[in-house]
Amino acid sequence: MGAIDLHARPTRDFDAKLEQTRKLLLRAASEFAPLKQASSLGAEDVVITHLVNGLELDIPVFVLETGALHAETLRLLERTQATSRAPVEVYRPVQEAVVQFVQREGNEAMYRSIDLRKACCAIRKLEPLSRALAGQRAWITGLRREQSAARSDVALIDTPDAEGRIKINPLADWTWGDVWHYIATHGVDYNPLHDQFFPSIGCAPCTRAISLGEDFRSGRWWWEEETAKECGLHVHQQEKAAA
Ligand code: SF4
Repeated sequence: MGAIDLHARPTRDFDAKLEQTRKLLLRAASEFAPLKQASSLGAEDVVITHLVNGLELDIPVFVLETGALHAETLRLLERTQATSRAPVEVYRPVQEAVVQFVQREGNEAMYRSIDLRKACCAIRKLEPLSRALAGQRAWITGLRREQSAARSDVALIDTPDAEGRIKINPLADWTWGDVWHYIATHGVDYNPLHDQFFPSIGCAPCTRAISLGEDFRSGRWWWEEETAKECGLHVHQQEKAAA
């Protein structure tokens, strides 16, 4: 049984949610430009890219190609680049920084400590992210409230971060069933890892399949405490301010 059969169950007000999401994307394109969509090529992100393309919005998509993605994700990236109306930008880490880190700490450093895992994320994700977002007023993500306790208060439009940049989360109130209903009814190309019980798409060493009943984010950094499970891309605004 594939992900569509397992998960495509829309909530009763799905049509209203979809309309609201389209309106939010239209508003974002006119009020918050320049802006980009951040895509991990997971289920939520392919839905947003499909909506952006359908609305013919001037919103490029960017993917952080960390050098540690699954082959399935890289193939979906190639297909997305070939079919997307919106430009698909790929940002990679500084090769020298990756080589030095791996030479010093080894290929499995992320399992040894949270600090080393965060150091790897800083090199492979955060530095490329800062280049991807340079000069942008806003960015669009696929965060949903349902994904984890840490994301339960995700807003449709976040307050500006320290650099004045706004994060827009058009699927904040969508359920997993809504996401898969959209994928099923619009024939959206998706990552086949979802058919192998990967709810969340990330780097191969740090993402695993989950069992029925396990928490959504338990497929990411499963050896760490729940509260540590963000790579810095989506650190809560208040935590950032406190830091
Ligand atoms: S998710 Fe894992 S492999 Fe990817 S950047 Fe972070 S620590 Fe490194």
